Amino acid sequence: MERTCVGCRQQSDRANLLRIVEESMILILDERKSLPGRGAWIHPAQECLELAITRRAFIRALKLSGQPDSSGLNFTKEQAETMLANK
Ligand SMILES: [Zn+2]
Repeated sequence: MERTCVGCRQQSDRANLLRIVEESMILILDERKSLPGRGAWIHPAQECLELAITRRAFIRALKLSGQPDSSGLNFTKEQAETMLANK
């Protein structure tokens, strides 16, 4: 199943992307990719995260009214790899 990364806008299999959801205007990682509601898909890369924030892509993808708090999403490469291995 293909999903579009909200950062670089390229399509990838959902197995290669992380799912982000919003709770009270805070972005959180949906580690099991199973939380209800809207989700935004993104590559586990800092570049894609920064692009998504700069382009306000989370606001559009998650239909938010303003810029959410993304400070909890600063994943390192190791963390990202662990997350993807957990699928
Ligand atoms: Zn990307």
